[in-house]
Amino acid sequence: MNRSTYIGRFAPSPSGPLHQGSLVAALASYLDARAHGGQWLLRIEDLDTPRVVPGAAERICRQLSGLGLHWDGPVLVQSERDAVYRDAFDRLTRAGHIYGCGCTRKEIADSVLRRDGRLPDGEVPYPGTCAHGLPPGRHARAWRVRVPSGIVQFEDRWAGSQHQDVAADVGDFVLLRADGLWAYQLAVVVDDAAQHITDVVRGADLLASTPRQRVLQRLLGMPEPRMMHVPVVTNLDGQKLSKQTGATALDPAHALDDLRAAGRHLGLGDIVRADVASWLTEATRRWSARWGTAPRLGTDVAAGQAPTRRR
Ligand code: GLU
Repeated sequence: MNRSTYIGRFAPSPSGPLHQGSLVAALASYLDARAHGGQWLLRIEDLDTPRVVPGAAERICRQLSGLGLHWDGPVLVQSERDAVYRDAFDRLTRAGHIYGCGCTRKEIADSVLRRDGRLPDGEVPYPGTCAHGLPPGRHARAWRVRVPSGIVQFEDRWAGSQHQDVAADVGDFVLLRADGLWAYQLAVVVDDAAQHITDVVRGADLLASTPRQRVLQRLLGMPEPRMMHVPVVTNLDGQKLSKQTGATALDPAHALDDLRAAGRHLGLGDIVRADVASWLTEATRRWSARWGTAPRLGTDVAAGQAPTRRR
């Protein structure tokens, strides 16, 4: 039995099939898990139902198998876990961390504009309009968590030391959306804890979400996994490769070429092998050498014995 202190995961949203960009996140998390002699779990993040494409989850599973990226254990499907998110939300509510918000996006932007005379380039921080109760005549559309003041700091294994003043830069953020859906930030934190994830390895587009996730982990008393955010793949215009920017679905017939490209993107050099299994063995070896993970491939990691890691 492979008992290990490392548990990683890949958590695709089934808004379309895997493309070269999502393969990079899948491969990095897979290699890190295997390099640590750990488990690699699969979670389907299908809560944002308007964006879910029927059949995409099954297709992603087939694509991963075709690439030799075999996950451990059962697949966790977020749409089947409403009661678990409700439970976490209720706990936060009972502890006084949640309030109802009646603001529309436009009202939020207008009040920040009135207050600051301009809108920030990125996300508009919530100005706290409903934090002390809904204005008369308004009803709650969404539910927000009160963000404690202070700087959230964490070490990212790829990007280095990170810090953010979440209360100032983001403000109280939404956990239950106006359309009645659980927000990604809540579900990801609850599921990472439920799956005992020790290490999150994912695309750098989610680096900015991590401080919010740390806030929730602290309020819910959940463990804080180690983080690694790998560079995202961009198209020729410098946009992140995604379905919206025209990324094409991976074709199982080109598995080795797709793995080679993803490996190069992750700084592993050009790995040429005749089949996916030996390609992945060599990629795991190189990942291990680069990231200083336990060189124990093919052997069990003794229970309770943490693999050596470079910080
Ligand atoms: N479901 C998210 C996505 O596909 C990833 C979530 C995560 O890795 O935390 O972008």
